[in-house]
Amino acid sequence: MVNNLKGIAASDGIAIAKVYLLTEPDLTFEQVEGVDVEVEAKRLDDALLQTQAQIQDIRETALTRLGEEEAKVFDAHLMVASDPELIDQVKSTIKSDQINAEAALHNVSQMFIQMFKSMEDNPYMQERAADIKDVSERILANLLGVKLPSPASIKEEVIVVAHDLTPSDTAQLDRKYVKGFVTNIGGRTSHSAIMARSLEIPAIVGTGSIVESVKDGDIVILDGLDGVVHINPTTELREDYEQKGAEFEQLRQEWAKLVHAETKSKDGKSFELAANIGTPKDLTGAIENGAEAIGLYRTEFLYMDSQDFPTEDEQFEAYKAVLEGMNGHPVVVRTMDIGGDKELPYLSLPEEMNPFLGYRAIRISLNEPDMFRTQLRALLRASVFGKLRIMFPMIATLNEFRGAKALFEEEKANLINEGVKVSEEIELGIMIEIPAAAVLAHQFAKEVDFMSIGTNDLIQYTMAADRMNEQVSYLYQPYNPSILTLIKHVIDSAHKEGIWAGMCGEMAGDQTAVPLLMGLGLDEFSMSASSVLKTRSLMSKLNYEDMKQLAEKAINECTTVEEVIALVEEAKKSI
Ligand code: PEP
Ligand code: MG
Repeated sequence: MVNNLKGIAASDGIAIAKVYLLTEPDLTFEQVEGVDVEVEAKRLDDALLQTQAQIQDIRETALTRLGEEEAKVFDAHLMVASDPELIDQVKSTIKSDQINAEAALHNVSQMFIQMFKSMEDNPYMQERAADIKDVSERILANLLGVKLPSPASIKEEVIVVAHDLTPSDTAQLDRKYVKGFVTNIGGRTSHSAIMARSLEIPAIVGTGSIVESVKDGDIVILDGLDGVVHINPTTELREDYEQKGAEFEQLRQEWAKLVHAETKSKDGKSFELAANIGTPKDLTGAIENGAEAIGLYRTEFLYMDSQDFPTEDEQFEAYKAVLEGMNGHPVVVRTMDIGGDKELPYLSLPEEMNPFLGYRAIRISLNEPDMFRTQLRALLRASVFGKLRIMFPMIATLNEFRGAKALFEEEKANLINEGVKVSEEIELGIMIEIPAAAVLAHQFAKEVDFMSIGTNDLIQYTMAADRMNEQVSYLYQPYNPSILTLIKHVIDSAHKEGIWAGMCGEMAGDQTAVPLLMGLGLDEFSMSASSVLKTRSLMSKLNYEDMKQLAEKAINECTTVEEVIALVEEAKKSI
């Protein structure tokens, strides 16, 4: 039996609580023939009542925690759970074939699922198939007496353990009860990790086998600082960790004093510290953590949390809320970045061998101009409510930027013609997350208003190492001299053309990277809100002039990551 497991520290903090295993339930059953038809019909009715009550419960939770839009999914589920056509067919199958309720339900629901699924061009029908699958699994679980895990219904303090968490699983976690989570797969930049940091709950990902190593109710210590999980610890170890947790809390309180402080190096050079957000709801965390701007608003969550393409008005409301909430401080809104590990059920994307190298982000937007124009119009309309900067993701070529800019200009002219007011101050920028764009940053810098380095992708593409694959996570090397050299080229190119360079990948909040990035002259650092204050604290203790030398040395003299880390550690000792 293992008593501890190492993983990747994905979100700071210490938590001690019971395990809540979020695993795929075992719903296998035998087909039984020659059954008592009345008994089986009654079992089905009972399971249906139970199912309806459970869905109602989840719906209530989703409504209070997430809002009307998210709760709508469960309305559709309730309709399936009481759909007379489906129920009658299951009952008549029990009768005609004299088989148990489980088998009858399975046969009928499969028939409906296949029927809806075959209507490939109709996203609505695809959704219906997904609803029927979901609900029939729940009915089956109730027939079998199996408890289905549901992150939204957790009502006691737990640490969630799962093979992986999808963005929608993570969105359902309530930080009041969920004290942290641990997964088998994933890396520091997988979206579950990013969500954990925005929820400000400790998390460890990529442990390889946590699901196989614990059972429901085990006590675990989640050390999100060092990336270690201790399973059923001794009282002594538990006390040590309670102490460590308290010390970390104290440090947090120290950082909290810097909420309204300016971001400056010890020798007075200013930097902009911004936060990354996924939804307007994350704004509170960003402001409470003292972010001076929003450096990345990932708008794809607006699409992913919706049952269909969000309308222009829905998008306008979301963008307006963020711009107004930031009260004149800059907001970088990134246009939709679907693809890679972010799916959109109603935009049936093709199965791909290499989704991260496939059809995603700006590639989709330029190929689906109607969808893209809707987003641009919503942004333009919202622009009068604050200081808007629009950023295009996954730009590989200048032509892609020019194409996106042309659509932006067209929609701007259209709106003006329609008599709608738009801001004349909108900056248009790009993410530098593809090596081709980093290498040609000096050319991009002549045409864009800003460049923000997306290191999560830039590192995976430069090192050819999937950011989701923990087996190659050792190659996720932010301080590799090759990465630092690319970053330097981007920053120098921006400055040469008189524009600013930022970073919105997770590296911007990495405490070993920050001294190097300061030295390279990065203007804006955008990170998970929970990293803002500790970064401000670190920056205030370092001299910019010294960091310039440090960065130069790292790039010119170091040949390995280990050498760079040693160099930074040495420099940090003097603070
Ligand atoms: C990045 O690639 O660094 C980035 C910020 O984008 P995302 O993590 O959303 O791909
Ligand atoms: Mg990216």
